[in-house]
Amino acid sequence: MKPKIAVHKFTSCDGCQLAFLNLGEDLLVLSELVDIVHFAEAGPVNPDAEVDIAFVEGSVSTPHEIDRIHRIRDNSRFLITIGACATAGGLQALRNLADARQWITSLYTRPEHIQSLETSTAISGHVKADLELWGCPVNGRQIIAAVRALLFGVVPPQEKDKVCMECKRQQTVCVMVTRGIPCMGPVTLTGCGAICPRFGRDCYACYGPAENPNTAAISQRFEGLGLLHQDIVRRFEFINNAAPAFAEAGKKYHD
Ligand code: SF4
Ligand code: SF4
Repeated sequence: MKPKIAVHKFTSCDGCQLAFLNLGEDLLVLSELVDIVHFAEAGPVNPDAEVDIAFVEGSVSTPHEIDRIHRIRDNSRFLITIGACATAGGLQALRNLADARQWITSLYTRPEHIQSLETSTAISGHVKADLELWGCPVNGRQIIAAVRALLFGVVPPQEKDKVCMECKRQQTVCVMVTRGIPCMGPVTLTGCGAICPRFGRDCYACYGPAENPNTAAISQRFEGLGLLHQDIVRRFEFINNAAPAFAEAGKKYHD
């Protein structure tokens, strides 16, 4: 019998699910190796099925999602979070720094119909995640590598390097050294292939903090390049604003 997998959506933009769909031929190969029993965006719907691997996209931001994630965890052998929302709460975790109720009342004419939590939190804040794939969105290569490792009974390796390492491996010219562009690569987890510097632009840390990120040093460098404190805060309080290393670094520069 083929292993069963499910892809679940929580609060998110669907971009990581699209990473699955954009696998192209690899998706066809994957569908021969596994049974995809739940993946609403692609067709099959069976959210309460017991599966070997559950992929979860999105953060927990409603009371209903708290119940759902516990059910999914109970029904899954491995649970893998995919993307910035599921691993760190996503851009929507900016609400954690504000009065979320006030935002709701100022945005909606009938706020009493909105059932939303005060915070947006990572999946690992509620249940155990066996593997966290960072990125906004994740890329197909990461997903295939994780599934392949699990199918062979091996725990998939977790990336730890910084984007700068990837630049060096590819001999990409550093945008910060050569053009003085403030780049988050020195504190950001690799996995994307350093795609932004390859195209001559700075990394904005969509893959979240790398292992042991020296956020103090990069903040000082940004100051040296002329960034105001508020601009440094924005670098950290962006897509992965609730990742602890970035949240701490951002807090230090709040005037
Ligand atoms: S371009 Fe950015 S990611 Fe690449 S080496 Fe320079 S600082 Fe690091
Ligand atoms: S270079 Fe940085 S911003 Fe660009 S895709 Fe990679 S992690 Fe994301």
